[in-house]
Amino acid sequence: MTDCIFCKIIKGEIPCLRIYEDKDVLAFLDIAPVNRGHALVIPKKHYADFTDMPDEAVKQVFVAAKKVADGVMKGVNANGFNLGMNNRKVAGQLVMHAHVHIMPRFEGDGFKLWEGKKYLEGEAKKVMESINKKLK
Ligand code: 5GP
Ligand code: ZN
Repeated sequence: MTDCIFCKIIKGEIPCLRIYEDKDVLAFLDIAPVNRGHALVIPKKHYADFTDMPDEAVKQVFVAAKKVADGVMKGVNANGFNLGMNNRKVAGQLVMHAHVHIMPRFEGDGFKLWEGKKYLEGEAKKVMESINKKLK
């Protein structure tokens, strides 16, 4: 994709602070980290989001993400990490090239996760059935 920032990073047209690379995957530091060491793991081929990725690419990216997460944790002495993937605009995806966030966590870092909601009476079963149908 010619107008994709991450494709440009892969081609070396935009610089990045690379922390890991293999033939299919690149990982680099996020330019606006939620915590120090925040990294992005991306497939070298352009896919718009998670569901757009073929199984092979999912495997390559997540196997690499596991390795990168371990290196990030050790490299910045983190106490844990969140693994995240924003998919499509409504979910906060700003760069439309599939990417996995590795966000290191530190005791007392103040990072907030989303809050849970409640289902209405009987709603959860309907939702379960609707999803089940789509997965058959
Ligand atoms: P999204 O909201 O799409 O899941 O996250 C995109 C991420 O890419 C953001 O965290 C943002 O800081 C990061 N980002 C956007 N442009 C660049 C860039 O040019 N270089 C780097 N290293 N990160 C970027
Ligand atoms: Zn791209």
